[in-house]
Amino acid sequence: MDVALQEIENALANQEFELQYQPKVNFLKGRISGAECLIRWNHPEKGFISPDHFIPLAEKTGLITQISAQICSMAIHAIGELRAAGFEGTLAINTSPLDFETCIIIDILQKAIDEKEIVPSDLQIELTETATLNNKDVISSRLELLTDMGFKLVMDDFGTGYSSIDLLSQLPFSTLKVDQGVIGRMANSTKNLNIANMVINMARTLRMDVVAEGIEDKNTYQFLAYAGCLEAQGYWISKPLPFDEFKLFIKSNPQYPSSQLGMIYHAHLNNVYFRKSVLDAMLYANCQTDLNMASVANPDIHFEPKNTRLGQWYFGVGQELSGRENFQAIEEPHRKMHEIGKTLFESNFENPDDAILAFNESFELVNKHLNLLETELMAEENARLFEEAKGGA
Ligand code: C2E
Ligand code: CA
Ligand code: CA
Repeated sequence: MDVALQEIENALANQEFELQYQPKVNFLKGRISGAECLIRWNHPEKGFISPDHFIPLAEKTGLITQISAQICSMAIHAIGELRAAGFEGTLAINTSPLDFETCIIIDILQKAIDEKEIVPSDLQIELTETATLNNKDVISSRLELLTDMGFKLVMDDFGTGYSSIDLLSQLPFSTLKVDQGVIGRMANSTKNLNIANMVINMARTLRMDVVAEGIEDKNTYQFLAYAGCLEAQGYWISKPLPFDEFKLFIKSNPQYPSSQLGMIYHAHLNNVYFRKSVLDAMLYANCQTDLNMASVANPDIHFEPKNTRLGQWYFGVGQELSGRENFQAIEEPHRKMHEIGKTLFESNFENPDDAILAFNESFELVNKHLNLLETELMAEENARLFEEAKGGA
């Protein structure tokens, strides 16, 4: 459908845009954790027009920023009403990099904070790169400002187009949204399944949360829960809903399957990764070359157990498992492993064999109890799935 620029300008002036809300579910709790705000245009003559038919033109002409400003204000208003109705989740809005060539969006958000309409954890900012960025330095500094204010920045459509690994390293994203194409293709081949898995693993290694979008069936949902995604979005949960329907939806407080298995799998990966980073750093410190690789010598590792990736799960959502022996048995060797890791990292051993042996011992104990915990949860999950299949038969 052809849309003229003048029509978009009219739509802005006449308030023809509205938002719909697509629920997101937290895989660990199986409960609604937020929603993505998606623009809808009710054209007075042409009826409903899909965003795919006017967002690209709005981006090309720069009008997108006026649209973004409008939806930003709408989302601020919506969160107020939703909070009053008991909603505890977050709303994610879509923005374009162009929006950050100026301060318009940041000013709207700052004003809403100053007037106590929102706190930064109410809203997340999704950013899709639609073309190579021209003003990367300016945009990047504005996005830093946004994250300094406390907003979470989400890289949208990861795995397609311009949403690249390169961009991940340049902008302060805290969350990765895996593109629905990547999710949709997962079932077609092992290769595509591995790609989805690797994207999730990469994000976790970078300390980012992962949202999967475009989940259209239960199997995909279940698989992604076991793979360690944090949040789910897609038609299987719900289509985008008008505001009143969304309010009813959250009021019904639906329960979806939940699992910690994905987090345990990632605790394993984090543990392996930590061990390797420490050993690499130690070797590097001992190799007397001029080779300049500060990133190996000073890896992004945290020695305080609570700050480690495993620790963030363990002392956070993992606590739901605190009644289990194998869960409790992880804490001590994990603490010890980090303590020895710190010594290995900081001291210059001529012969570090003993320290490495002790390091390995703690590493293996952590793994052992993670394995046992995983096996325990898998058995329960298996029994649950069996019951469910019987019930459905
Ligand atoms: P997006 O940000 O990737 O949004 C997700 C799109 O996928 C939405 O389409 C949503 O309705 C659709 N979707 C959700 N779950 C499923 C599923 O399970 N299967 C399939 N096949 N599709 C699903 P929608 O609302 O038509 O939006 C299309 C695109 O338009 C968005 O893609 C986004 O890039 C853009 N857009 C939408 N609202 C806004 C906005 O307020 N501002 C900006 N700048 N762009 C927007
Ligand atoms: Ca989006
Ligand atoms: Ca997307």
